[in-house]
Amino acid sequence: MDCIFCRIASGEVPTQYLHEDREIVAFPDINPQAPTHILIMPKEHFTSLGEMVPKNSELLGRLLLVAHSVAGQAGVVDTGFRLVLNQGRDGAQTVPHLHLHLMGGRGLSGRMG
Ligand code: 5GP
Ligand code: ZN
Repeated sequence: MDCIFCRIASGEVPTQYLHEDREIVAFPDINPQAPTHILIMPKEHFTSLGEMVPKNSELLGRLLLVAHSVAGQAGVVDTGFRLVLNQGRDGAQTVPHLHLHLMGGRGLSGRMG
């Protein structure tokens, strides 16, 4: 399987990580939609939430905690931010490796889609 985010997670594609631990990496989106636009993802390949099972609960929770920590590093905790998980065709998911988008640094539209 050729997954660009797996290649980023393994270090094969050199990427400036904003966070890295045993299970999770965060890095800037290549095509930012907001002044702060960071992706947070498990290193392990999951295409969607549907591939996660109860033993992945801690990892899922940690993704949110890492997102908050990275938001702090980016200086957007006080002003606020949005976390998005696009899944599947109607969710406009383009990279089939589960990830969160962290966006902030400007007032985001109140429209969700
Ligand atoms: P999705 O639509 O799947 O939720 O979002 C995928 C995101 O990954 C897009 O915002 C896109 O700009 C970003 N992206 C795609 N390829 C790369 C890449 O090679 N490097 C980085 N840093 N971001 C990427
Ligand atoms: Zn992958």
